[in-house]
Amino acid sequence: MVHFVGAGPGAPDLITLRGAELLRAADCIIYAGSLVNPALLGLAKTDCALYNSAEMTLEQVLAVIRRQEKQGKNTVRLHTGDPCLYGAIREQMDALDALHIPYQDVPGVSSFCGAAAALNAEYTLPGVSQSVIITRLAGRTPVRSAESLASLARHGATMVIFLSAGMLAQVQTALLQGAYTPDTPAAIVYKATWPEEKIARCTVGTLAESGAAAGICKTALILVGDFLSPAYERSKLYDPAFTTGFRKGSGE
Ligand code: SAH
Repeated sequence: MVHFVGAGPGAPDLITLRGAELLRAADCIIYAGSLVNPALLGLAKTDCALYNSAEMTLEQVLAVIRRQEKQGKNTVRLHTGDPCLYGAIREQMDALDALHIPYQDVPGVSSFCGAAAALNAEYTLPGVSQSVIITRLAGRTPVRSAESLASLARHGATMVIFLSAGMLAQVQTALLQGAYTPDTPAAIVYKATWPEEKIARCTVGTLAESGAAAGICKTALILVGDFLSPAYERSKLYDPAFTTGFRKGSGE
């Protein structure tokens, strides 16, 4: 059996209890070595086979899994953050289906949650934005023109931009083609929840220069929107005047 496991954003104690249990029990761990914190491999049994998928192709990953399955062994496929975002899990799952190898997916804390925590921020503030757009600039992986950063930026919603810290000037230009202004607050969060975490708070107009000044060009998220401004409306949920399914409000 194969367990796809979300490793969390970096800090080793941010993996789920289920994920940690599976790492302890694994006969084989194939980990995304470019981003997974190697400290998590310390949970593995001493005779656990370890493979760094950063140096492997999909075919090589599948060959390792098939070998383990033939011997009746358990494999953990350890992905950074949550496997469902930019994890390339679908192609692995489809191949496993074709091979009749069973698998399950164990979620993890995505780096976009780690980055919000690093900033003590809430992405969905009443009166500011109730939507979070998770996206990226095209790199070697193309992005459909309907999802271009400039077109998504027209919404002026909270934005979390993955895989684009090496292209800050292009990110800045695209954002300014949308609803954001040079004064819209932004932040670049490098290695959220790792000991070497770095935060560069800036504005859309100073994104590129702030990233360069902080020396950040990879393993970072770009966060954009007025959720980083001081102004917002308080929630209805905890408003004394507001009645909910659990509490009678004073105003009604
Ligand atoms: N599945 C992962 C994302 C993998 S794509 C998740 O849920 O987080 C890899 C990209 O994620 C990086 O280029 C970077 O943009 C972002 N990333 C991953 N870990 C990060 C971290 N700890 N801090 C900031 N960005 C991170």
